[in-house]
Amino acid sequence: MDAKELLAKVKEDNVKFISYQFTDIFGTVKSVDAPVNQLAGALENGVWFDGSSVEGFARIEESDMHLIIDPNTYAVLPWTPSDLRRARVFCDIHQPDGSPFARDARGVLKRMLKKLDERGWVYNVGPEPEFFLFKQNGGNIHPEPHDVGGYFDFSAHDDAAQVRAELMAALESMGLEVEFGHHEVALGQHEIDFRFADALKTADNVLTLKSTVKAIAAQHGLIASFMPKPIFGINGSGMHCHQSMFDNKGNNLFFKADDEFHLSDLARSFIAGQLAHARAFSAIVAPTVNSYKRLVPGYEAPVYIGWAQRNRSALIRIPRYTPGQDKAVRAELRCPDPSMNPYLAFAVMLATGLDGVDKKMTPPQPLNNVNIYELTPAELAEKNIDQMPGSLREALDEIEKDEVIKAALGEEMFESYKRVKEAEYEDYRIKVSDWELERYLELI
Ligand code: GLN
Ligand code: MG
Ligand code: MG
Ligand code: MG
Repeated sequence: MDAKELLAKVKEDNVKFISYQFTDIFGTVKSVDAPVNQLAGALENGVWFDGSSVEGFARIEESDMHLIIDPNTYAVLPWTPSDLRRARVFCDIHQPDGSPFARDARGVLKRMLKKLDERGWVYNVGPEPEFFLFKQNGGNIHPEPHDVGGYFDFSAHDDAAQVRAELMAALESMGLEVEFGHHEVALGQHEIDFRFADALKTADNVLTLKSTVKAIAAQHGLIASFMPKPIFGINGSGMHCHQSMFDNKGNNLFFKADDEFHLSDLARSFIAGQLAHARAFSAIVAPTVNSYKRLVPGYEAPVYIGWAQRNRSALIRIPRYTPGQDKAVRAELRCPDPSMNPYLAFAVMLATGLDGVDKKMTPPQPLNNVNIYELTPAELAEKNIDQMPGSLREALDEIEKDEVIKAALGEEMFESYKRVKEAEYEDYRIKVSDWELERYLELI
């Protein structure tokens, strides 16, 4: 879609306001709104805003920022009332001199993808976002529904199924190709999967999904949360990412007919690269203090660094091959969670996979037919199986040492990211938690 087509489209859709959107360093969607009659000017001249208060941007001398509209990301926000119809466009952030702003996460991913395009390759990602719907009850929140709902359960009384149907319809209207929506394992937990696309489109789609889920849940008096582990003792919410590499004619470079897993050497090296960098990239794909409360044994989330066919305890799983479905051959990375900034996450997932390809790395033995959760420390050591970081602290120490990730993010983005995440961890470290009070208050 070009500028002219966009102007015609907003008329046809009866749009009254445009939200110009971008994300801060955490991946939180930010929005500047304006009446639709400003759109022609915004398309021509961009939209100016003060970036100095946006998390991770802060440098007072760089406060004047410029949003450049990507017309292809136009979507009507279906939850807005028709007399105040609002549509959104995602924007790239530029500096006053016209150069791309180094701390724009979407810009970081675009830069990685441009390099990939020089090889004639396309990086595809298909995510599986999971989330909880909570009921508000006075000051308390409870998972919705209270009484029914487990993995794939169908219940005529499941209110959430109605909300999921509305969500799927809304997402379809915004251009996502929804494949499945279902109840997840935990009470009040759901998943909506949409079709894979190139990494940039998918990252945009992830943000669309998160804002849509939150907006429509709110219309039902529910709180939607993508927090990785909102409740101790039950499954957390992940966002597994299915990945493949196509050439620009649409052939799947991960596929090889005469291989036991139908994986090419390129796919194996890509997997090896991700396994080698997993402890470091977890600071980006599982980026919150809370992420590490999900990555523990017993809840279908990965803990150990290994790969396998089908085995759901592995960090990277190779789904079963269906004859003739060469394009569906892929590697599922299971540690990411929906608290990530998808632009940064896909940039480092790609960079570390490519590092494996460029260095012709070979992955370790696949962990088929082993429940890794049940291996003893001795067996883990013997098989040379490493663990994911146990905390954001550990992950931040790892990322510090990773030159491939640093290069992928760029110096300025890397420094800002470290700074905000160190501050987040420090804030957590010095707080007194309920656990401490329960354990120590009366005892000591
Ligand atoms: N919720 C699990 C996780 O945290 C995944 C469960 C599943 O999709 N089978 O990764
Ligand atoms: Mg799934
Ligand atoms: Mg799932
Ligand atoms: Mg999965």
